[in-house]
Amino acid sequence: MIIVMKVGASQQDIDQVIGNIEALGLKANVIQGTERTVVAAVGEERVAGIGSLESSPGVDEVLAVLAPYKMASREVKKEDSVVRAGSLCVGNGKVGVIAGPCSVESEEQLISAAIAVKAAGATALRGGAFKPRTSPYSFQGMKEDGLKLLAQARDETGLAVVTEVVSPSDVDLVAKYADVMQIGARNMQNYRLLEAVGGCGRAVLLKRGPSATIDEWLLAAEYILDAGNPNVMLCERGVRTFETHTRFTLPLASVPYVQERSHLPVVIDPSHGTGHTSLVPAMSQAAIAAGADGLIVEVHPNPDKALSDGYQSLTFDQFAEMMPRCRRIADALDRCLGGE
Ligand code: PEP
Ligand code: MN
Repeated sequence: MIIVMKVGASQQDIDQVIGNIEALGLKANVIQGTERTVVAAVGEERVAGIGSLESSPGVDEVLAVLAPYKMASREVKKEDSVVRAGSLCVGNGKVGVIAGPCSVESEEQLISAAIAVKAAGATALRGGAFKPRTSPYSFQGMKEDGLKLLAQARDETGLAVVTEVVSPSDVDLVAKYADVMQIGARNMQNYRLLEAVGGCGRAVLLKRGPSATIDEWLLAAEYILDAGNPNVMLCERGVRTFETHTRFTLPLASVPYVQERSHLPVVIDPSHGTGHTSLVPAMSQAAIAAGADGLIVEVHPNPDKALSDGYQSLTFDQFAEMMPRCRRIADALDRCLGGE
């Protein structure tokens, strides 16, 4: 249920609504729109006394939210959310581009990648320091040493840092270095991790689980929003299907579908979504044509030697060649690639 406040409702009116909601045993989450404030009442709604909210001063209307996710729903917030983190700006016509290696491997690898992707127009640097690998024998990441290199790359290029956190116990450490906390596909339903990043004060990139439905994905976002963090980007990175030619199947219909139902920005990951370097430029362009609010792309100085995901990483030249094409598509749709 949402309580839509009148334009110009006072803070006292809003506080009274919050008090009334809490008296009903529900939780009040305030969503500040550009014109008016909306208060979402979340929790078990079959409670007597809801009608009293309608007559509270400053209240315009009380509406039922039909979607199972509340804070993430367009019903609660009509305008697009914009997520800003340092140099990265995503949403409402601004298309952010996050690029860099799958894993942080060395100073030379990371800094050269940061300089190259920035020169080509990327607005944030990606790089995993904690890697969730399918096999326990695969490279697990440089951990804090990798985070330090990411911070150094940010100092040298000005690019915001996007990096994955795999465990609730690492959230404080990763938040010390990161601008954006990435929740990987394998952890989308790790609810304690979602709650932890909800309270960490950093923006979050929430990847879709490879077998998660869109409702499950949006409910995962709801955990982060409900924990008090409004800066959530959704990332479609492909789902598992019967098809084996591509690593996952990348459903670009997720972009307009999710944008109809949620105000949160949608970022596409064409690298994991296809698993093939050669398919990444075409799917990046298609993602922007479909209205994606951002891209996250793997780029490596020498993909053949990469410690993870080299087969889906672009070289510097391939990334630099792809970017102007993406920009032309964004321009044609009156959207701004890399805009701040
Ligand atoms: C990654 O971004 O390198 C990664 C592990 O992605 P995902 O969680 O989507 O598999
Ligand atoms: Mn990867």
